[in-house]
Amino acid sequence: MLEFDIAIVGGGLAGSRAAVEIARSDPRLKVALVSKVHPIRSHSVAAQGGIAAALQNVDPNDDWLTHAFDTVKGADYLADQDAVAVLTQQAPQVIIDLEHMGVLFSRLPDGRIAQRPFGGHTNRRTCYAADKTGHAILHELVSRLFQYKVPLFDEWYVLKLIVEEGEAKGLVIYHIPTGRLEVLRAKAILFATGGYGRVFNTTSNDYASTGDGLCLAAMAGIPLQDMEFVQFHPTGLYPVGVLISEAVRGEGAYLVNGEGERFMARYAPSRMELAPRDITSRAIATEIREGRGVNSRYVFLDLRHLGKEKIMERVPFAHDEALRHLGIDVVYEPMPVRPTVHYSMGGIPTTIDCQVLVAHDQPLTGFFAAGECACVSVHGANRLGSNSLLECVVFGARAGATLARYVQERSLPAVDEQRYRAEAERLLQKLIDQPGSERIATLRADFQDTLTDHCSIFRDEALLSEGLAQVQRLKARYQNIRLDDRGKLYNTEIVEALELRSLIEVGEIIVASALQRRESRGAHSRSDYPERNDADYLKHTLAYHTAEGVHIEYRPVDLSLQQKDPERFTPQARKY
Ligand SMILES: Cc1cc2nc3c(=O)[nH]c(=O)nc-3n(C[C@H](O)[C@H](O)[C@H](O)COP(=O)(O)OP(=O)(O)OC[C@H]3O[C@@H](n4cnc5c(N)ncnc54)[C@H](O)[C@@H]3O)c2cc1C
Repeated sequence: MLEFDIAIVGGGLAGSRAAVEIARSDPRLKVALVSKVHPIRSHSVAAQGGIAAALQNVDPNDDWLTHAFDTVKGADYLADQDAVAVLTQQAPQVIIDLEHMGVLFSRLPDGRIAQRPFGGHTNRRTCYAADKTGHAILHELVSRLFQYKVPLFDEWYVLKLIVEEGEAKGLVIYHIPTGRLEVLRAKAILFATGGYGRVFNTTSNDYASTGDGLCLAAMAGIPLQDMEFVQFHPTGLYPVGVLISEAVRGEGAYLVNGEGERFMARYAPSRMELAPRDITSRAIATEIREGRGVNSRYVFLDLRHLGKEKIMERVPFAHDEALRHLGIDVVYEPMPVRPTVHYSMGGIPTTIDCQVLVAHDQPLTGFFAAGECACVSVHGANRLGSNSLLECVVFGARAGATLARYVQERSLPAVDEQRYRAEAERLLQKLIDQPGSERIATLRADFQDTLTDHCSIFRDEALLSEGLAQVQRLKARYQNIRLDDRGKLYNTEIVEALELRSLIEVGEIIVASALQRRESRGAHSRSDYPERNDADYLKHTLAYHTAEGVHIEYRPVDLSLQQKDPERFTPQARKY
């Protein structure tokens, strides 16, 4: 059996930053970093527009409390205000720390880090490296992993989280190239497993964003929080769905409908194209639905007035994406866009020190989560652009510091290696042997279409109920899948089968949570309950996976900044 002080699952921004912090805090600790893709290929590398912090380089009157207010208002008041205070207060320090590590941020003429406007942020506070910010940060962090000699288990797929008697004890991991299984025990485990965009048929997320960590936690009896809040990014390139960064609008691009009108004036007159994403995505969907789209399918994102020089300097990647996918040169032509699934506001509930919470707000011994898979909750019902990279770095570092202290007092838990190994072998052998008739690709496409048709930007009771019934039918079909590859080496079909299990579990929880929240808040927009309802729903959803289906409970929202600044932090109508 493999034995470590700490096992981190995920090598994206959150997992890598945690590993770096542990190595800095106590280099004697034995840490394993397990990742199904090489860490440098984690979705974080694709992040484009930037990372927020009230550095005051461009707007001297910015401060953390204004950043906190923007975040809480953007979240439609569902964010936990204690967590938002940590996020925004620590932001400047983590950016400076990244810069000291060598991250190549774009600069102002005087050499300080440049900052651009972003949706829902009052001030210009988004730091960036052109429109390749995730690439710049992740490369630096991953090179630190090598410098600190953190043992990497890359191309190892975690297929089980071992939880017994209220204690997380270990993992069962599967080596994709060789088919080898190992049981790993550790004094503490950190999940930094990212999002689940692939639950839907059109997403900006990469192929590996299948919500595995969420599924594994749910199957171990841990609740998932606020899963009904799925972020649609307003500008997915039509029809492929790849992301055109908000930085493009931050630099001044217009959204224009089929009638040549800058329609955001109707929805968010004070912010126009830089309204928060939930509002902008609903505006685009409404324009298309009411017949003002272009070819009834999309709207235009128009950069032409920015001029070639600014486009090539500030958003070269967006220029390349439009050219590569559609042959459109945005210097001369507008590009077609429509909303695309982008981000998971919900996730595994944690304390502000990243320890996972189970029923009745009890921390689960030995289990931590950070980054997109966690719900600490700084984004509430809607995340502001450039706050996610920030969350990964702030809470990744915080998780690392907490873990380095936490394991000092803990001994290795006892794990029955034979039992878990045999169980995993049976699971894989059954997948390989079963004579089923369902093709993974077909079932996955049917599932993604179901979620997209029934749990999209606009929802209602009938759509969601039918969606849930369909997901349950798809779950039954999953029992009958068939694999063609029966070998051990690089059996990617096994991984696809396991990922499909994750998608279906997570999808079911999303729909069930959405069905129970009979109000509209942030990204969750119910046509049958169009108003926000604080009296009944200013609370977090907790969804449990059970044999009978999804069981829903609720927990209160932290409103602690309200005492500090009641005028801004008391929930009020959200207008831009
Ligand atoms: C195209 C795009 C652009 C974005 N741009 C921005 C931006 O400009 N600013 C911003 O703030 N946010 C942005 N975001 C959001 C942000 O990038 C992500 O939320 C963030 O990077 C997530 O980081 P993470 O460390 O939580 O997870 P990820 O980077 O997704 O990493 C997940 C890790 O978990 C591992 N893993 C998952 N399942 C398993 C398993 N079963 N076994 C083993 N390993 C597993 C993977 O191998 C991977 O290493 C963007 C997102 C996208 C998709």
